[in-house]
Amino acid sequence: MKGVVYKSTGSWYTVKGENGTFYECRIKGKFRIGGIKSTNPIAVGDHVVFEVETKGDETVGVISKIEERDNYIIRKSVNLSKQTHIIASNIDVAFLLITLNNPPTFTTFIDRFLVTAEAYHIKAVLLFNKIDLYNEDELLEIKYLAALYRKIGYECIGISAKTGKNIDKVKQLMVEKVSMFSGHSGVGKSTLINTMESKLDIKTSEISEQHMQGQHTTTFAEMYDLSFDARIIDTPGIKGFGVVEIEKEELGDYFPEFFELKQDCKFNNCLHLEEPQCAVKEALENEEIAWSRYKSYLQIMEGEEENYRKDIYTN
Ligand code: GDP
Ligand code: ZN
Repeated sequence: MKGVVYKSTGSWYTVKGENGTFYECRIKGKFRIGGIKSTNPIAVGDHVVFEVETKGDETVGVISKIEERDNYIIRKSVNLSKQTHIIASNIDVAFLLITLNNPPTFTTFIDRFLVTAEAYHIKAVLLFNKIDLYNEDELLEIKYLAALYRKIGYECIGISAKTGKNIDKVKQLMVEKVSMFSGHSGVGKSTLINTMESKLDIKTSEISEQHMQGQHTTTFAEMYDLSFDARIIDTPGIKGFGVVEIEKEELGDYFPEFFELKQDCKFNNCLHLEEPQCAVKEALENEEIAWSRYKSYLQIMEGEEENYRKDIYTN
């Protein structure tokens, strides 16, 4: 039977079969998955093939095959082994919740999220939450940000998880898809999910990154079915996407508006730093590219790991 992995404990996997039934499965022997060395062979979101075995009155499944993944998100353990752990796979849409204050979301954080989404090949959508709270100046700022990111090609929606404003638009993007919600603690992720689906009780537990460091903490993601034919993956304790390693040479490819101009740079390996006749820097001077985007580019380029962690995991 074919199915999708909804939950993993590391040794047992909860798989929803095509017939709609959930099976507790284990894996058959050892099997390698092309390309990546990870601590876990199977991740939430994986499409698998399994055989059902009945022993007495117990029914268990044995997973024999994993279909190729469209994408997957990873975290690297912070201890010396630097092992890769696949958190989840086959994500269709990654939503980032953004608030101007309580807590503030800085453009560097947004840009890092978008770069990671590009690197993972996951569609990203920006949700500006708590629009019921903002005054006129703040609404103007939201408008400015939304225009900035729309111009690059990202969908932006102003929402209120509290009043329900534009939640139908978010739901439309989720139908028949697997979604993920990210954003700082306090931006309204739990509120949004509860507004969409009051019966669902997801404990978006707040495991601080401090707490996770120095421990072999494994984060187990879990998938949930929503009533409107949508599925979400909850990743407790992870507010962003985790750390992804990007080569300096490829970073520009994950800023779509830079990538578009790359062919016009004098050097085809232009990093858009100090090189002469750089189309990206020219566009920056002409205000066709936002300074905030270029600033984020430089920061990621310089690999400000410290800031990055602060961005991702604290408020
Ligand atoms: P999470 O940490 O991202 O899951 O954030 P929560 O869902 O716990 O929300 C944090 C706080 O913001 C709570 O007090 C919510 O009631 C509040 N909140 C969430 N969404 C909205 C919104 O759209 N408008 C207003 N006014 N408050 C909101
Ligand atoms: Zn250039």
